[in-house]
Amino acid sequence: MVRKKKIEYHSYTEGNTRYMSCQICGNYEIVGEEAVAVKCSRCVSMIMMREFPIEDKSYKSTGRPVGWHWMKEFVDKDGKVFHKGKEQPKLKGTLKPTKVKPSKKRKTKRRTRDQILVAKYKEKQKLKRELKKQQDFLNHKTEDK
Ligand SMILES: [Zn+2]
Repeated sequence: MVRKKKIEYHSYTEGNTRYMSCQICGNYEIVGEEAVAVKCSRCVSMIMMREFPIEDKSYKSTGRPVGWHWMKEFVDKDGKVFHKGKEQPKLKGTLKPTKVKPSKKRKTKRRTRDQILVAKYKEKQKLKRELKKQQDFLNHKTEDK
């Protein structure tokens, strides 16, 4: 047996389809050939629900811009002052609220790990659909002789 430094999750191939066990729950998932680790759709949606529970609503209700907690200084509507996301209670009410420009277009920003995860998830769903199509095609072919 060849020892590898990199952690590889257990995977196997059946026909043209590669399966790999989910990092979290261990269920087998269809993956692409290059995949080294996978989270199944159930675990991904659980993560997504946890990370983005009411994303849009919360942005509207706080009125805080995306990435406000990385801003050197951010003053909330109610006068709360934050320095890089840390509240500065002593400064509360001493500064004018930071004006939030409504961004119409989403600028390209460095993606967070979760955004990458979401993108990967979407890609995987696409891959899955394609594999399904392929399999359906093959199945019909054999059924119809
Ligand atoms: Zn899982």
